[in-house]
Amino acid sequence: MYKSDYKNIIYGNLISREIQNEIKTEVLLFKQSRNIIPSLAVILVGDNDASRLYVKNKQRMANYVGIQSKLFELPIHVEQKEIINIIEDLNEDPTIHGILVQLPLPSQIDETTVISMINPLKDVDGLHPYNSGLLAAGIPKFVPATPLAIREILLRTNNNPAGKHVVILGRSNIVGRPVANLLSLKSFGGNATVTLCHSRTNDLKSLTKTADIIIVAMGIPNFVDASMVHSGVVVIDVGINRIPNLKMQRGYKLVGDVDFESVMPISSAITPVPGGVGPMTIAMLLSNTILATKLQDI
Ligand code: NAD
Repeated sequence: MYKSDYKNIIYGNLISREIQNEIKTEVLLFKQSRNIIPSLAVILVGDNDASRLYVKNKQRMANYVGIQSKLFELPIHVEQKEIINIIEDLNEDPTIHGILVQLPLPSQIDETTVISMINPLKDVDGLHPYNSGLLAAGIPKFVPATPLAIREILLRTNNNPAGKHVVILGRSNIVGRPVANLLSLKSFGGNATVTLCHSRTNDLKSLTKTADIIIVAMGIPNFVDASMVHSGVVVIDVGINRIPNLKMQRGYKLVGDVDFESVMPISSAITPVPGGVGPMTIAMLLSNTILATKLQDI
C-alpha cells in the first residue's frame, strides 16, 4: 500500500507520518485523561554534525506529536561523572519519561557504563543490558528504535517476515543483533528464519542470494549490488553514508549500503536512503516514549 505504483519503493517518511499521527492521538489522550505530558530527555555530547542533525530531527518530530523534549548539551571534553550525574537526576525526575544518550560518545567516555546508568523503565533506546537481555530472552520491553522501525515497515507493506528467510548484514548492538532477535521471536511480526552475517562471514554472496528479505546495516556505501540478491527480494537499507559531492549545497550526498540503482529494478520492495528507515526510526523512538510513559503511570 505504501509502494509507489511502478517502482516498488517503500516511502518510510509516509509510514512514519502515519505512525506520528497515531502517537499524536495517544499523547492527547494522556493529556486529557491523566493530565500527563509524555517527555523525552536527550543528552548530546560534543559537536558531531550528524549527531546534532539526528537530535534536531528527533526534537522536531517529538514537537509535532506533542511529546515534550528537553535537550542537555555537553562539551566534547566532559567527564563521564558529569553525564552520569545528569542521568541520575533524570532517573529521579517524575516529569521525564524517556532518557536518550545520543551515540557515539567521545573516546574518554565508556558508552556501556553510561547507558547502564539509565533507569531501564526510561530506556527508550532499548540499549540498557537489562532491556537487551529481555529481548534476547524472548520477553521484550524496550527494543531499539531501528529494529522496531524495520519490523513496522515490513508489516505495514504486507511483507510479514513469518516463515521468510531474513538475511541481516551487520551485528551491531543497535541494529543487527536486536533485529535478529526481534524478527525471530515466536510472536506476531516475528517467526522469521534469520541469518546474521558480519565482517567474518565466509562467502557472503551465497547467503544473501537465498534471502527473501535482506536487511543491510554495515555503513559501507553501495555494498550490496544486484549480483548479491535474487529477484523479488525485499530490501531494507539501514545504512546512512555521506559521500562528498560538491554539487550539493551541503557538500555531500546521502547514500545507503545498497546500490539502489542496480537493486531496485529486481527487488519487490526497497527502502530508499534518505526517506526510508531513518524517519521510521524516529517515529519508533517516540512510540517507545509513549510506552515508557504508560509503564511509569502506575
Ligand atoms: P556498525 O557501524 O557498528 O557496524 C558495522 C557492521 O557491519 C559490523 O557488525 C560488521 O561486522 C559489519 N560488516 C562490516 N564489513 C562487513 C562485510 N564485509 N561483510 C559483512 N558484514 C560486515 O553498525 P551500525 O551502528 O548498525 O551502523 C550501520 C549503518 O547503519 C551506518 O551507516 C549507520 O549510520 C546506519 N544506521 C542507520 C540508522 C537509521 O535510523 N537509519 C540507525 C542506526 C545506524
